[in-house]
Amino acid sequence: MPSPRYFLQHFVPFTGYPYKGAPTGCNLCGSREALTVAETDRRLKTLRSIACTQCGLIRTDPMPTPDELAEYYATAYRADYQLAFAGGPPRHHLNRSAREATFRADLLAPKLKPGARLLDFGSGSGEFLAEARKRGCDVTGVEPGRDYANYARDHHGVTVLDEAENPETFPAGHFDVISTHHVLEHLRNPAETVERLARWLKPDGVLYAAVPNMAATGKPPHERFHFAHVHGYVRETFDLLARRAGLVPHTEYWREDTTVVYRKTDAPPVPLKNPGLAERLAVDLKPMSAGLFLASGAWIWPALRRNAKAVRDGLARR
Ligand SMILES: [Zn+2]
Repeated sequence: MPSPRYFLQHFVPFTGYPYKGAPTGCNLCGSREALTVAETDRRLKTLRSIACTQCGLIRTDPMPTPDELAEYYATAYRADYQLAFAGGPPRHHLNRSAREATFRADLLAPKLKPGARLLDFGSGSGEFLAEARKRGCDVTGVEPGRDYANYARDHHGVTVLDEAENPETFPAGHFDVISTHHVLEHLRNPAETVERLARWLKPDGVLYAAVPNMAATGKPPHERFHFAHVHGYVRETFDLLARRAGLVPHTEYWREDTTVVYRKTDAPPVPLKNPGLAERLAVDLKPMSAGLFLASGAWIWPALRRNAKAVRDGLARR
């Protein structure tokens, strides 16, 4: 059971997170050269993010260890997403998830034929699995979040595995469709994960993958950073991550930045490089000056809204 201090350290602005972490090389290209692109996250807490000088993949520095991430998900993350008490996903989450599931199923409609084998990697509360099954697919989910996985099993009656770290979990070339929605930004090893997913895909299968777009305009740069998101992508790095696993964008499907349907390719490997991207990201993600931002007061309501509920839930469950 974590201490109240652990919770406070997760939610009080202008302080660091309660973790030590360790420096890592780039998960996509292996380079250790990087530029700092942010020092603050959306809670206005201290959190350093760096972009790989060779390929542009953004990562948290130092990278939280597997144990530190596990503790975070078991405590602060659960409190934040109101799972600690309710034991299940909140209503507004389920509504949003159902809308997104319909959108994803419509996008993938040409492949969601009766009998098609589908894997949702990071299946959450199971709305997409339920939607695909409704269209006749044979569906399987993978979800490490215990509350979400149990909800999906109980409410949708779908098969959900706790994890699928082992490449032998499924036979090679098993699935017609694999989807992974807002998962790869949470993982310490996204490159190996996408390779595993590609391995499980049939030669003519498709992989739907979506993550937040770090190049998104329209909100202050620091709003794009979150402790749980240990990797950050833009269009170029997301496509390169897929390319490393032998996948390319499927041009017959709609795409938007970092929401993409990929297919397999036999083309030879490409260099794992995006020259100049890290420098561009360092400029694009440059925060407005701290003084100006504080004086504007624009941070007050978002900070209060995000922090109040989480702290209350976190402390009350003791
Ligand atoms: Zn790199």
